[in-house]
Amino acid sequence: PLVLGIESSCDESAAAVVAADGTIVAQAIASQDEAHRPFGGVVPEIAARAHVEVLGPMVEQVLAEAGMELADLDAIAATAGPGLIGGVMVGLVTGKALAMAGDRPLIAINHLEGHALSPRLADRELAFPYLLLLASGGHCQILEVRGVGEYRRLATTIDDALGEAFDKTAKILGLGYPGGPAVERLAAEGDPKAVPLPRPLKGSAEPHLSFAGLKSAVLRAFESGQYEKADIAASFQQAALDCVIDRTTRALADAGEVGALVVAGGVAANKSLRTALEALAEENGLGFVAPPMKLCTDNAAMIAWAGQERLAAGLVAEGGDPLDVAARPRWPLDPDAEPARGAGV
Ligand code: ATP
Ligand code: MG
Ligand code: FE
Repeated sequence: PLVLGIESSCDESAAAVVAADGTIVAQAIASQDEAHRPFGGVVPEIAARAHVEVLGPMVEQVLAEAGMELADLDAIAATAGPGLIGGVMVGLVTGKALAMAGDRPLIAINHLEGHALSPRLADRELAFPYLLLLASGGHCQILEVRGVGEYRRLATTIDDALGEAFDKTAKILGLGYPGGPAVERLAAEGDPKAVPLPRPLKGSAEPHLSFAGLKSAVLRAFESGQYEKADIAASFQQAALDCVIDRTTRALADAGEVGALVVAGGVAANKSLRTALEALAEENGLGFVAPPMKLCTDNAAMIAWAGQERLAAGLVAEGGDPLDVAARPRWPLDPDAEPARGAGV
């Protein structure tokens, strides 16, 4: 089967056609970084309007590149949440319109499931169950992925997401937006031991993650005028990674038996994080999978792939999801998870 995927939950408009064997037949992505840069973060209304302008022509372009028409598709998978609601609605309505026009089944995809299954698109050998660190600009969770649609959340951030901490650190240091890659680049020139910074929740009895206190400490260090920017960046990255490794170690102890440690989401692009997680996996006799960068940050191939996984698992109803399926600003992957204190989802 061939599935068209549509993604618009944050600041990337994307469309892709993916085959059942994981071949990405055609794909396109438009980042809105330039539009949001003056504001130092994503402005929801600007994002939604940009998706409106870009998505229609982008779908046409991707189908043309694939040499296909709507009738050649077996399903249309569109992100239905969680995310910035205006953008999610634009992508979902686009998917619904195409499903209606082409009489194709619609599959409403949880964006987090797209991230969670993207490692299986990158590595077709990766088997369930695996432990997943999902770290992006809006989310930071550790999940036991038992199968398609079977996710057990072991930890979540109680305040900021890891990518958000990178973005806020970049803003404090005047490195611009998006901040993750800029912080990583500057950190390479600094001393990770130069600035004493806290490791929130490291060794804590509760399983969760926290990065807000670290960001505040970065702000104080910067305002003290005592430190080089590169040293602050390097010390921040080291502190954040120490927390992540500690919390992932804890999650491994809490999880059932897993075969691999897997990282996904935009922060998975960070090389120091990959190296540290790979070492942790090796210590525990586990495989390690990190998708290539273009599958880590928001993209539509992972949404189309989640559609393929759902089809193959028999989780898509005959005729697809109802066309009145709602866009959801919040949509936890593990509905049974206890809410963490603070703002974490
Ligand atoms: P969502 O959280 O809804 O999935 P998002 O757009 O924030 O949406 P992604 O596109 O997956 O998520 O990830 C973007 C995040 O990843 C940003 O916070 C960015 O700073 C961070 N990031 C990207 N590259 C790096 C890097 N090399 N090091 C650290 N963080 C990075
Ligand atoms: Mg993004
Ligand atoms: Fe994302």
